[in-house]
Amino acid sequence: MSDKAYSMPSCSCCFRKITPDDVGSVKFRCPSCGDVVHVRCSFCRKKEINYTCPACSFVGP
Ligand SMILES: [Zn+2]
Ligand SMILES: [Zn+2]
Repeated sequence: MSDKAYSMPSCSCCFRKITPDDVGSVKFRCPSCGDVVHVRCSFCRKKEINYTCPACSFVGP
């Protein structure tokens, strides 16, 4: 089976797909509820755009 194993996450801020070569992107659990995995692309990270957790409404940089 050669199904594509890599599912591209999308950025929590701008909803763009994160490609494997986007080396500046980060992936982390919500520091407040720990339930949601947030993804930020290198662009949003550089711009320091805030994200909002859909589960607990935590807003973080
Ligand atoms: Zn983004
Ligand atoms: Zn949360």
